Amino acid sequence: MIAEAAVLRNFIGGEFLDDGDRFDKVSPVDGSLVATVVEADAAIVDRAVRAARRALDGPWGGFSTADRVALLRRIADRIDARFDDLLAAEVADTGKPVPLARDLDVARAAANFRAAADMVAAAGLDSFLTEGPAGRALNYALRKPLGVVGVIVPWNLPLLLLTWKVAPALAAGNAVVVKPSEETPSSATLLAEIIAEAGAPDGVYNVVHGFGIDSAGEFLTRHPGIDGITFTGESRTGSAIMQAVAPRVLPVSFELGGKNAAVVFDDADLERTIEGLARSTFLNTGQICLCTERIYVQRGVFDEVAAALAEHAGTLRFGRPEDPATTTGPLISRQHREKVLAHYDLAVQEGAKLLAGGGTPELGPELDAGAWVQPALWTGLNNSHRTLREEIFGPAAALVPFDTEDEAVRLANDSDYGLASAVWTKDLERGHRVAGALRVGMAWVNTWYLRDLRSPFGGSGLSGIGREGGMHSLHFYTEPTNICIHL
Ligand code: NAD
Repeated sequence: MIAEAAVLRNFIGGEFLDDGDRFDKVSPVDGSLVATVVEADAAIVDRAVRAARRALDGPWGGFSTADRVALLRRIADRIDARFDDLLAAEVADTGKPVPLARDLDVARAAANFRAAADMVAAAGLDSFLTEGPAGRALNYALRKPLGVVGVIVPWNLPLLLLTWKVAPALAAGNAVVVKPSEETPSSATLLAEIIAEAGAPDGVYNVVHGFGIDSAGEFLTRHPGIDGITFTGESRTGSAIMQAVAPRVLPVSFELGGKNAAVVFDDADLERTIEGLARSTFLNTGQICLCTERIYVQRGVFDEVAAALAEHAGTLRFGRPEDPATTTGPLISRQHREKVLAHYDLAVQEGAKLLAGGGTPELGPELDAGAWVQPALWTGLNNSHRTLREEIFGPAAALVPFDTEDEAVRLANDSDYGLASAVWTKDLERGHRVAGALRVGMAWVNTWYLRDLRSPFGGSGLSGIGREGGMHSLHFYTEPTNICIHL
Protein backbone atom coordinates (compact mmCIF):
# COMPACT_ATOMS: atom_id res chain seq x y z
CA MET A 1 0.00 0.00 0.00
CA ILE A 2 1.31 3.40 -0.96
CA ALA A 3 0.31 5.09 2.31
CA GLU A 4 2.57 2.69 4.27
CA ALA A 5 5.48 2.75 1.86
CA ALA A 6 5.63 6.52 1.27
CA VAL A 7 8.34 5.69 -1.26
CA LEU A 8 7.21 5.15 -4.85
CA ARG A 9 9.58 2.92 -6.80
CA ASN A 10 10.03 2.06 -10.43
CA PHE A 11 8.33 -1.20 -11.38
CA ILE A 12 10.31 -3.29 -13.83
CA GLY A 13 9.91 -6.91 -14.90
CA GLY A 14 7.46 -7.58 -12.06
CA GLU A 15 9.59 -6.04 -9.30
CA PHE A 16 9.72 -2.72 -7.45
CA LEU A 17 13.31 -1.43 -7.57
CA ASP A 18 14.98 0.83 -5.02
CA ASP A 19 17.92 2.21 -6.97
CA GLY A 20 17.93 5.78 -8.28
CA ASP A 21 17.84 9.37 -7.08
CA ARG A 22 14.76 10.51 -5.22
CA PHE A 23 12.44 13.49 -5.54
CA ASP A 24 9.58 14.73 -3.41
CA LYS A 25 5.96 14.84 -4.48
CA VAL A 26 4.09 17.46 -2.44
CA SER A 27 0.38 18.04 -2.00
CA PRO A 28 -1.17 20.92 -3.94
CA VAL A 29 -3.63 21.30 -1.05
CA ASP A 30 -1.17 22.39 1.64
CA GLY A 31 2.39 21.70 0.44
CA SER A 32 2.79 18.62 2.69
CA LEU A 33 4.87 15.65 1.53
CA VAL A 34 2.81 13.00 -0.30
CA ALA A 35 5.61 10.63 -1.27
CA THR A 36 9.27 10.29 -2.09
CA VAL A 37 9.67 9.05 -5.63
CA VAL A 38 12.57 7.09 -7.09
CA GLU A 39 13.64 8.70 -10.36
CA ALA A 40 14.54 6.45 -13.30
CA ASP A 41 17.81 7.33 -15.03
CA ALA A 42 18.72 6.15 -18.53
CA ALA A 43 19.97 2.78 -17.26
CA ILE A 44 16.75 2.11 -15.35
CA VAL A 45 14.63 3.06 -18.37
CA ASP A 46 16.77 0.68 -20.42
CA ARG A 47 16.02 -2.13 -17.95
CA ALA A 48 12.30 -1.40 -18.25
CA VAL A 49 12.35 -1.50 -22.04
CA ARG A 50 14.30 -4.78 -21.98
CA ALA A 51 11.88 -6.27 -19.48
CA ALA A 52 8.97 -5.34 -21.77
CA ARG A 53 10.74 -6.96 -24.73
CA ARG A 54 11.37 -10.15 -22.73
CA ALA A 55 7.66 -10.33 -21.89
CA LEU A 56 6.76 -10.07 -25.58
CA ASP A 57 9.28 -12.75 -26.51
CA GLY A 58 8.14 -14.90 -23.58
CA PRO A 59 4.80 -15.85 -22.05
CA TRP A 60 2.93 -12.67 -22.98
CA GLY A 61 3.59 -13.27 -26.67
CA GLY A 62 1.77 -16.60 -26.32
CA PHE A 63 -1.43 -15.11 -24.84
CA SER A 64 -4.39 -15.62 -27.18
CA THR A 65 -6.94 -12.87 -27.68
CA ALA A 66 -9.26 -14.73 -25.30
CA ASP A 67 -6.47 -14.90 -22.66
CA ARG A 68 -5.89 -11.16 -22.96
CA VAL A 69 -9.61 -10.39 -22.75
CA ALA A 70 -9.85 -12.49 -19.59
CA LEU A 71 -6.81 -10.70 -18.10
CA LEU A 72 -8.28 -7.27 -18.84
CA ARG A 73 -11.54 -8.24 -17.15
CA ARG A 74 -9.63 -9.48 -14.09
CA ILE A 75 -7.70 -6.17 -13.98
CA ALA A 76 -11.02 -4.27 -14.07
CA ASP A 77 -12.32 -6.44 -11.20
CA ARG A 78 -9.13 -5.81 -9.19
CA ILE A 79 -9.50 -2.07 -9.79
CA ASP A 80 -13.02 -2.29 -8.37
CA ALA A 81 -11.71 -4.29 -5.40
CA ARG A 82 -8.98 -1.70 -4.70
CA PHE A 83 -11.14 1.30 -5.57
CA ASP A 84 -10.55 3.02 -2.22
CA ASP A 85 -6.76 2.67 -2.46
CA LEU A 86 -6.79 4.19 -5.93
CA LEU A 87 -9.13 6.95 -4.81
CA ALA A 88 -6.84 7.83 -1.89
CA ALA A 89 -3.80 7.86 -4.20
CA GLU A 90 -5.49 10.07 -6.78
CA VAL A 91 -6.81 12.52 -4.19
CA ALA A 92 -3.45 12.74 -2.40
CA ASP A 93 -1.60 13.56 -5.62
CA THR A 94 -4.08 16.00 -7.16
CA GLY A 95 -6.02 17.48 -4.23
CA LYS A 96 -9.25 17.21 -6.23
CA PRO A 97 -12.53 16.83 -4.31
CA VAL A 98 -13.20 13.20 -3.35
CA PRO A 99 -16.54 12.92 -5.26
CA LEU A 100 -14.88 14.16 -8.44
CA ALA A 101 -11.99 11.71 -8.19
CA ARG A 102 -14.44 8.92 -7.32
CA ASP A 103 -16.97 9.54 -10.11
CA LEU A 104 -14.70 10.83 -12.88
CA ASP A 105 -11.20 9.45 -12.44
CA VAL A 106 -11.30 6.14 -10.64
CA ALA A 107 -14.64 4.97 -12.05
CA ARG A 108 -13.25 5.35 -15.56
CA ALA A 109 -10.20 3.17 -14.85
CA ALA A 110 -12.16 -0.09 -14.66
CA ALA A 111 -14.43 1.09 -17.49
CA ASN A 112 -11.39 1.64 -19.72
CA PHE A 113 -10.24 -1.97 -19.19
CA ARG A 114 -13.73 -3.39 -19.80
CA ALA A 115 -14.21 -1.28 -22.94
CA ALA A 116 -10.83 -2.41 -24.32
CA ALA A 117 -11.69 -6.06 -23.55
CA ASP A 118 -15.04 -5.71 -25.38
CA MET A 119 -13.35 -3.97 -28.29
CA VAL A 120 -10.67 -6.59 -28.89
CA ALA A 121 -13.09 -9.48 -28.29
CA ALA A 122 -15.38 -8.14 -31.03
CA ALA A 123 -12.68 -7.17 -33.52
CA GLY A 124 -12.77 -9.17 -36.76
CA LEU A 125 -10.27 -9.46 -39.58
CA ASP A 126 -10.32 -7.04 -42.51
CA SER A 127 -10.80 -9.34 -45.51
CA PHE A 128 -11.53 -8.81 -49.20
CA LEU A 129 -12.23 -11.15 -52.09
CA THR A 130 -10.39 -9.76 -55.13
CA GLU A 131 -11.79 -10.61 -58.57
CA GLY A 132 -10.21 -9.12 -61.70
CA PRO A 133 -8.14 -9.71 -64.81
CA ALA A 134 -5.10 -10.58 -62.67
CA GLY A 135 -7.02 -13.43 -61.04
CA ARG A 136 -9.00 -14.15 -57.90
CA ALA A 137 -7.48 -13.76 -54.48
CA LEU A 138 -8.37 -13.69 -50.83
CA ASN A 139 -6.87 -10.75 -48.90
CA TYR A 140 -6.89 -10.62 -45.15
CA ALA A 141 -5.01 -8.44 -42.71
CA LEU A 142 -3.44 -9.92 -39.59
CA ARG A 143 -3.14 -7.39 -36.80
CA LYS A 144 0.03 -7.68 -34.76
CA PRO A 145 0.96 -5.69 -31.66
CA LEU A 146 3.33 -2.75 -32.21
CA GLY A 147 5.67 -4.26 -29.60
CA VAL A 148 7.03 -2.18 -26.71
CA VAL A 149 4.89 0.95 -26.35
CA GLY A 150 6.02 3.99 -24.35
CA VAL A 151 3.05 5.55 -22.52
CA ILE A 152 3.65 9.12 -21.30
CA VAL A 153 0.79 10.82 -19.46
CA PRO A 154 0.02 14.09 -17.63
CA TRP A 155 -1.25 14.95 -14.17
CA ASN A 156 -4.75 16.29 -14.70
CA LEU A 157 -6.70 12.98 -14.86
CA PRO A 158 -3.82 10.66 -14.02
CA LEU A 159 -5.42 7.24 -13.70
CA LEU A 160 -8.16 7.89 -16.26
CA LEU A 161 -5.71 8.95 -18.98
CA LEU A 162 -3.19 6.24 -18.10
CA THR A 163 -5.72 3.40 -18.28
CA TRP A 164 -7.26 4.92 -21.44
CA LYS A 165 -3.96 4.05 -23.14
CA VAL A 166 -2.68 1.02 -21.21
CA ALA A 167 -5.93 -0.97 -21.56
CA PRO A 168 -6.10 -0.99 -25.39
CA ALA A 169 -2.31 -1.36 -25.64
CA LEU A 170 -2.47 -4.57 -23.56
CA ALA A 171 -5.69 -5.71 -25.28
CA ALA A 172 -3.77 -5.61 -28.56
CA GLY A 173 -0.90 -7.64 -27.09
CA ASN A 174 1.73 -4.94 -26.51
CA ALA A 175 3.97 -4.59 -23.47
CA VAL A 176 4.15 -1.08 -22.00
CA VAL A 177 6.64 1.15 -20.24
CA VAL A 178 4.64 3.84 -18.50
CA LYS A 179 5.98 7.27 -17.49
CA PRO A 180 3.41 8.98 -15.27
CA SER A 181 3.68 12.68 -14.53
CA GLU A 182 6.15 13.64 -11.81
CA GLU A 183 3.15 15.40 -10.18
CA THR A 184 1.00 12.25 -10.00
CA PRO A 185 3.15 9.15 -9.52
CA SER A 186 0.90 7.27 -7.07
CA SER A 187 -1.94 5.69 -9.06
CA ALA A 188 0.36 4.38 -11.83
CA THR A 189 2.41 2.67 -9.11
CA LEU A 190 -0.67 1.12 -7.52
CA LEU A 191 -1.83 -0.05 -10.94
CA ALA A 192 1.41 -2.05 -11.18
CA GLU A 193 0.35 -4.04 -8.10
CA ILE A 194 -3.16 -4.48 -9.49
CA ILE A 195 -2.05 -5.68 -12.92
CA ALA A 196 0.39 -8.14 -11.32
CA GLU A 197 -2.33 -9.40 -8.92
CA ALA A 198 -4.59 -9.98 -11.94
CA GLY A 199 -2.02 -12.37 -13.38
CA ALA A 200 -0.16 -10.39 -16.05
CA PRO A 201 3.25 -11.90 -16.81
CA ASP A 202 6.29 -9.97 -15.55
CA GLY A 203 7.35 -7.15 -17.84
CA VAL A 204 3.95 -6.55 -19.44
CA TYR A 205 3.43 -3.33 -17.43
CA ASN A 206 6.48 -1.38 -16.28
CA VAL A 207 6.60 2.04 -14.59
CA VAL A 208 9.47 4.52 -14.74
CA HIS A 209 9.18 7.66 -12.66
CA GLY A 210 10.70 11.04 -13.33
CA PHE A 211 10.47 14.24 -15.31
CA GLY A 212 10.59 15.10 -19.02
CA ILE A 213 13.75 16.58 -20.45
CA ASP A 214 16.96 14.81 -19.39
CA SER A 215 14.93 12.42 -17.27
CA ALA A 216 12.73 9.34 -17.61
CA GLY A 217 10.42 10.92 -20.23
CA GLU A 218 13.16 11.83 -22.67
CA PHE A 219 15.14 8.62 -22.00
CA LEU A 220 12.04 6.62 -22.90
CA THR A 221 11.35 8.47 -26.15
CA ARG A 222 14.99 8.18 -27.23
CA HIS A 223 15.34 4.49 -26.37
CA PRO A 224 16.01 2.40 -29.49
CA GLY A 225 13.93 -0.51 -28.14
CA ILE A 226 10.63 1.38 -28.21
CA ASP A 227 8.23 0.60 -31.08
CA GLY A 228 5.72 3.42 -30.60
CA ILE A 229 4.77 6.27 -28.29
CA THR A 230 1.37 7.21 -27.02
CA PHE A 231 1.40 10.58 -25.28
CA THR A 232 -1.03 12.95 -23.61
CA GLY A 233 0.21 16.37 -22.57
CA GLU A 234 1.16 19.80 -23.81
CA SER A 235 1.46 20.49 -27.52
CA ARG A 236 5.06 21.67 -27.25
CA THR A 237 6.01 18.46 -25.40
CA GLY A 238 4.38 16.53 -28.24
CA SER A 239 6.56 18.44 -30.67
CA ALA A 240 9.71 17.60 -28.63
CA ILE A 241 8.74 13.91 -28.54
CA MET A 242 8.10 13.93 -32.27
CA GLN A 243 11.62 15.24 -32.83
CA ALA A 244 13.06 12.61 -30.48
CA VAL A 245 11.40 9.73 -32.35
CA ALA A 246 11.82 11.18 -35.86
CA PRO A 247 15.11 9.39 -36.66
CA ARG A 248 13.38 6.02 -36.08
CA VAL A 249 10.09 7.12 -37.75
CA LEU A 250 8.08 5.69 -34.83
CA PRO A 251 4.30 5.75 -34.81
CA VAL A 252 2.91 8.28 -32.35
CA SER A 253 -0.52 8.94 -30.94
CA PHE A 254 -0.75 12.44 -29.46
CA GLU A 255 -3.56 13.87 -27.35
CA LEU A 256 -2.41 17.44 -26.78
CA GLY A 257 -3.60 20.82 -25.59
CA GLY A 258 -6.78 22.69 -26.37
CA LYS A 259 -8.27 26.17 -26.54
CA ASN A 260 -11.82 24.98 -26.72
CA ALA A 261 -14.78 27.08 -27.75
CA ALA A 262 -18.39 27.07 -26.65
CA VAL A 263 -20.90 28.66 -29.04
CA VAL A 264 -24.15 29.85 -27.45
CA PHE A 265 -27.04 30.83 -29.72
CA ASP A 266 -29.80 33.09 -28.44
CA ASP A 267 -32.41 30.31 -28.75
CA ALA A 268 -30.50 28.05 -26.30
CA ASP A 269 -32.08 26.71 -23.12
CA LEU A 270 -30.22 29.19 -20.95
CA GLU A 271 -30.54 27.40 -17.65
CA ARG A 272 -29.06 24.23 -19.12
CA THR A 273 -26.47 26.23 -21.05
CA ILE A 274 -25.20 28.12 -18.01
CA GLU A 275 -24.93 24.89 -16.08
CA GLY A 276 -23.02 23.33 -19.00
CA LEU A 277 -20.73 26.33 -19.41
CA ALA A 278 -19.97 26.40 -15.68
CA ARG A 279 -19.12 22.71 -15.74
CA SER A 280 -16.97 22.99 -18.86
CA THR A 281 -15.08 26.01 -17.52
CA PHE A 282 -14.58 25.13 -13.85
CA LEU A 283 -14.62 21.31 -13.56
CA ASN A 284 -11.34 19.98 -12.11
CA THR A 285 -10.34 23.64 -11.63
CA GLY A 286 -10.28 24.01 -15.41
CA GLN A 287 -7.57 21.37 -15.74
CA ILE A 288 -9.19 19.13 -18.35
CA CYS A 289 -7.96 19.31 -21.94
CA LEU A 290 -11.62 19.57 -23.01
CA CYS A 291 -12.41 22.57 -20.77
CA THR A 292 -13.86 25.68 -22.39
CA GLU A 293 -11.67 28.80 -22.43
CA ARG A 294 -13.44 30.71 -25.25
CA ILE A 295 -17.18 31.39 -25.00
CA TYR A 296 -18.87 32.97 -28.03
CA VAL A 297 -22.37 34.20 -27.19
CA GLN A 298 -24.98 35.58 -29.59
CA ARG A 299 -25.47 39.26 -28.80
CA GLY A 300 -29.12 39.04 -27.70
CA VAL A 301 -28.26 36.89 -24.67
CA PHE A 302 -24.66 37.98 -24.09
CA ASP A 303 -25.21 40.09 -20.95
CA GLU A 304 -27.51 37.50 -19.40
CA VAL A 305 -25.08 34.63 -20.00
CA ALA A 306 -22.09 36.64 -18.74
CA ALA A 307 -23.87 37.70 -15.54
CA ALA A 308 -25.17 34.18 -14.80
CA LEU A 309 -21.77 32.57 -15.34
CA ALA A 310 -20.09 35.17 -13.13
CA GLU A 311 -22.68 34.45 -10.44
CA HIS A 312 -21.90 30.75 -10.75
CA ALA A 313 -18.17 31.42 -10.37
CA GLY A 314 -18.97 33.08 -7.04
CA THR A 315 -20.55 29.86 -5.74
CA LEU A 316 -17.40 27.71 -6.09
CA ARG A 317 -16.18 26.50 -2.69
CA PHE A 318 -12.50 25.79 -2.13
CA GLY A 319 -11.36 23.40 0.55
CA ARG A 320 -9.86 20.09 1.50
CA PRO A 321 -10.78 17.19 -0.81
CA GLU A 322 -12.61 15.25 1.91
CA ASP A 323 -14.76 18.22 3.05
CA PRO A 324 -18.26 17.60 1.59
CA ALA A 325 -18.73 21.37 1.08
CA THR A 326 -15.74 21.54 -1.28
CA THR A 327 -16.60 21.91 -4.95
CA THR A 328 -13.22 23.04 -6.26
CA GLY A 329 -9.70 21.81 -5.58
CA PRO A 330 -6.37 23.53 -6.10
CA LEU A 331 -4.32 23.65 -9.28
CA ILE A 332 -1.78 20.84 -9.48
CA SER A 333 1.23 22.83 -8.24
CA ARG A 334 2.58 26.23 -7.28
CA GLN A 335 4.50 26.22 -10.56
CA HIS A 336 1.31 25.73 -12.57
CA ARG A 337 -0.39 28.44 -10.50
CA GLU A 338 2.34 30.91 -11.52
CA LYS A 339 1.57 30.17 -15.17
CA VAL A 340 -2.19 30.60 -14.66
CA LEU A 341 -1.75 33.83 -12.69
CA ALA A 342 0.54 35.19 -15.42
CA HIS A 343 -2.36 34.63 -17.84
CA TYR A 344 -4.68 36.46 -15.44
CA ASP A 345 -2.27 39.45 -15.47
CA LEU A 346 -1.93 39.28 -19.24
CA ALA A 347 -5.72 39.40 -19.74
CA VAL A 348 -5.90 42.60 -17.71
CA GLN A 349 -2.94 44.11 -19.62
CA GLU A 350 -4.74 43.25 -22.85
CA GLY A 351 -7.69 45.35 -21.69
CA ALA A 352 -10.07 42.72 -20.35
CA LYS A 353 -12.93 43.59 -18.05
CA LEU A 354 -12.86 41.12 -15.16
CA LEU A 355 -16.33 39.73 -14.33
CA ALA A 356 -15.31 37.40 -11.51
CA GLY A 357 -12.36 36.27 -9.39
CA GLY A 358 -9.02 36.66 -11.11
CA GLY A 359 -6.67 36.22 -8.14
CA THR A 360 -5.90 33.86 -5.30
CA PRO A 361 -8.40 33.05 -2.53
CA GLU A 362 -7.71 33.65 1.18
CA LEU A 363 -8.13 30.22 2.76
CA GLY A 364 -6.25 30.61 6.03
CA PRO A 365 -2.80 29.49 7.20
CA GLU A 366 -3.50 25.73 6.88
CA LEU A 367 -3.92 25.94 3.13
CA ASP A 368 -1.54 28.84 2.50
CA ALA A 369 1.15 26.68 0.96
CA GLY A 370 -1.31 25.14 -1.53
CA ALA A 371 -1.81 25.99 -5.20
CA TRP A 372 -5.19 27.68 -4.88
CA VAL A 373 -6.53 30.05 -7.50
CA GLN A 374 -9.82 31.85 -8.05
CA PRO A 375 -11.71 31.41 -11.31
CA ALA A 376 -11.53 34.24 -13.85
CA LEU A 377 -14.06 35.41 -16.45
CA TRP A 378 -13.33 38.21 -18.88
CA THR A 379 -15.15 40.31 -21.48
CA GLY A 380 -13.76 43.03 -23.74
CA LEU A 381 -11.26 40.82 -25.61
CA ASN A 382 -11.29 39.27 -29.08
CA ASN A 383 -9.46 36.58 -31.02
CA SER A 384 -6.47 38.84 -31.67
CA HIS A 385 -5.58 38.73 -27.94
CA ARG A 386 -3.23 36.09 -26.56
CA THR A 387 -5.81 35.34 -23.87
CA LEU A 388 -8.00 33.80 -26.58
CA ARG A 389 -5.16 32.04 -28.38
CA GLU A 390 -3.00 30.37 -25.68
CA GLU A 391 -4.06 27.47 -23.47
CA ILE A 392 -4.34 28.58 -19.82
CA PHE A 393 -5.37 25.23 -18.26
CA GLY A 394 -7.08 26.86 -15.32
CA PRO A 395 -10.66 27.85 -14.35
CA ALA A 396 -10.81 30.78 -16.75
CA ALA A 397 -12.65 31.85 -19.91
CA ALA A 398 -13.19 34.92 -22.08
CA LEU A 399 -16.68 35.75 -23.35
CA VAL A 400 -17.01 37.32 -26.82
CA PRO A 401 -20.26 38.39 -28.55
CA PHE A 402 -21.25 37.42 -32.12
CA ASP A 403 -24.17 38.18 -34.43
CA THR A 404 -24.50 35.48 -37.10
CA GLU A 405 -24.00 31.72 -37.36
CA ASP A 406 -21.26 32.16 -39.98
CA GLU A 407 -19.43 34.56 -37.70
CA ALA A 408 -19.68 32.11 -34.77
CA VAL A 409 -18.17 29.29 -36.85
CA ARG A 410 -15.40 31.57 -38.12
CA LEU A 411 -14.52 32.73 -34.59
CA ALA A 412 -14.57 29.22 -33.11
CA ASN A 413 -12.39 27.87 -35.93
CA ASP A 414 -9.90 30.74 -35.64
CA SER A 415 -7.47 28.79 -33.42
CA ASP A 416 -4.26 26.82 -33.81
CA TYR A 417 -5.85 24.15 -31.60
CA GLY A 418 -8.75 21.86 -32.59
CA LEU A 419 -9.68 19.58 -29.72
CA ALA A 420 -13.32 20.06 -28.66
CA SER A 421 -16.30 22.40 -28.89
CA ALA A 422 -19.79 22.67 -27.47
CA VAL A 423 -22.72 24.21 -29.33
CA TRP A 424 -25.75 25.38 -27.37
CA THR A 425 -29.00 25.81 -29.35
CA LYS A 426 -32.57 24.47 -29.44
CA ASP A 427 -32.45 24.45 -33.26
CA LEU A 428 -31.17 20.94 -33.94
CA GLU A 429 -30.66 21.56 -37.66
CA ARG A 430 -28.34 24.35 -36.72
CA GLY A 431 -26.74 22.17 -34.05
CA HIS A 432 -25.81 19.54 -36.65
CA ARG A 433 -24.71 22.18 -39.18
CA VAL A 434 -22.47 24.14 -36.81
CA ALA A 435 -21.02 21.05 -35.09
CA GLY A 436 -20.11 19.65 -38.50
CA ALA A 437 -18.45 22.92 -39.57
CA LEU A 438 -16.17 23.10 -36.54
CA ARG A 439 -12.56 22.03 -37.05
CA VAL A 440 -12.27 19.88 -33.92
CA GLY A 441 -11.95 16.24 -32.94
CA MET A 442 -15.11 16.32 -30.82
CA ALA A 443 -18.14 18.61 -31.04
CA TRP A 444 -20.91 18.37 -28.46
CA VAL A 445 -24.41 19.81 -28.93
CA ASN A 446 -26.28 20.84 -25.77
CA THR A 447 -23.88 18.92 -23.56
CA TRP A 448 -20.19 18.69 -22.75
CA TYR A 449 -17.82 15.80 -21.91
CA LEU A 450 -20.43 13.11 -22.48
CA ARG A 451 -18.28 10.20 -23.65
CA ASP A 452 -18.85 6.86 -25.29
CA LEU A 453 -15.57 4.98 -25.00
CA ARG A 454 -16.04 3.45 -28.47
CA SER A 455 -16.11 6.86 -30.17
CA PRO A 456 -12.97 8.54 -31.59
CA PHE A 457 -11.12 10.82 -29.18
CA GLY A 458 -8.39 13.25 -30.23
CA GLY A 459 -7.81 16.58 -31.89
CA SER A 460 -6.72 18.47 -34.99
CA GLY A 461 -3.97 21.06 -35.42
CA LEU A 462 -1.93 21.64 -32.26
CA SER A 463 -4.36 19.39 -30.37
CA GLY A 464 -2.90 16.15 -31.59
CA ILE A 465 -2.27 13.40 -34.06
CA GLY A 466 -4.56 10.41 -34.49
CA ARG A 467 -7.58 9.22 -32.56
CA GLU A 468 -7.97 6.68 -29.77
CA GLY A 469 -11.15 4.96 -28.55
CA GLY A 470 -12.68 1.62 -29.61
CA MET A 471 -11.43 0.44 -32.99
CA HIS A 472 -9.38 3.64 -33.35
CA SER A 473 -7.23 2.46 -30.45
CA LEU A 474 -6.89 -0.98 -31.99
CA HIS A 475 -5.62 0.62 -35.20
CA PHE A 476 -2.93 2.57 -33.37
CA TYR A 477 -1.77 -0.25 -31.10
CA THR A 478 -1.48 -2.84 -33.89
CA GLU A 479 0.28 -3.08 -37.20
CA PRO A 480 -1.46 -5.06 -39.95
CA THR A 481 0.19 -7.50 -42.32
CA ASN A 482 -1.99 -8.03 -45.40
CA ILE A 483 -1.86 -11.56 -46.74
CA CYS A 484 -2.97 -12.13 -50.34
CA ILE A 485 -3.66 -15.73 -51.43
CA HIS A 486 -4.26 -16.56 -55.06
CA LEU A 487 -7.35 -18.69 -55.48
P1 NAD B 1 3.40 18.03 -20.12
O1 NAD B 1 3.49 17.96 -21.59
O2 NAD B 1 4.21 19.04 -19.41
O3 NAD B 1 3.76 16.63 -19.46
C1 NAD B 1 3.10 15.44 -19.83
C2 NAD B 1 4.03 14.26 -19.59
O4 NAD B 1 5.15 14.37 -20.47
C3 NAD B 1 4.62 14.21 -18.18
O5 NAD B 1 4.70 12.85 -17.78
C4 NAD B 1 5.99 14.81 -18.36
O6 NAD B 1 6.93 14.41 -17.40
C5 NAD B 1 6.36 14.30 -19.74
N1 NAD B 1 7.35 15.10 -20.47
C6 NAD B 1 7.58 16.42 -20.40
N2 NAD B 1 8.56 16.78 -21.26
C7 NAD B 1 8.94 15.65 -21.91
C8 NAD B 1 9.90 15.37 -22.93
N3 NAD B 1 10.65 16.33 -23.47
N4 NAD B 1 10.02 14.09 -23.35
C9 NAD B 1 9.24 13.11 -22.84
N5 NAD B 1 8.33 13.31 -21.87
C10 NAD B 1 8.17 14.58 -21.42
O7 NAD B 1 1.84 18.22 -19.81
P2 NAD B 1 1.16 18.42 -18.37
O8 NAD B 1 1.44 19.80 -17.89
O9 NAD B 1 1.50 17.26 -17.51
O10 NAD B 1 -0.39 18.28 -18.74
C11 NAD B 1 -1.19 19.33 -19.17
C12 NAD B 1 -1.33 19.35 -20.67
O11 NAD B 1 -1.88 18.12 -21.12
C13 NAD B 1 -2.26 20.42 -21.19
O12 NAD B 1 -1.71 21.01 -22.33
C14 NAD B 1 -3.51 19.64 -21.57
O13 NAD B 1 -4.34 20.25 -22.54
C15 NAD B 1 -2.93 18.37 -22.07
N6 NAD B 1 -3.90 17.29 -22.05
C16 NAD B 1 -4.43 16.84 -23.23
C17 NAD B 1 -5.39 15.83 -23.23
C18 NAD B 1 -6.00 15.31 -24.51
O14 NAD B 1 -6.62 14.25 -24.47
N7 NAD B 1 -5.86 15.99 -25.64
C19 NAD B 1 -5.82 15.29 -22.01
C20 NAD B 1 -5.27 15.79 -20.83
C21 NAD B 1 -4.30 16.78 -20.86
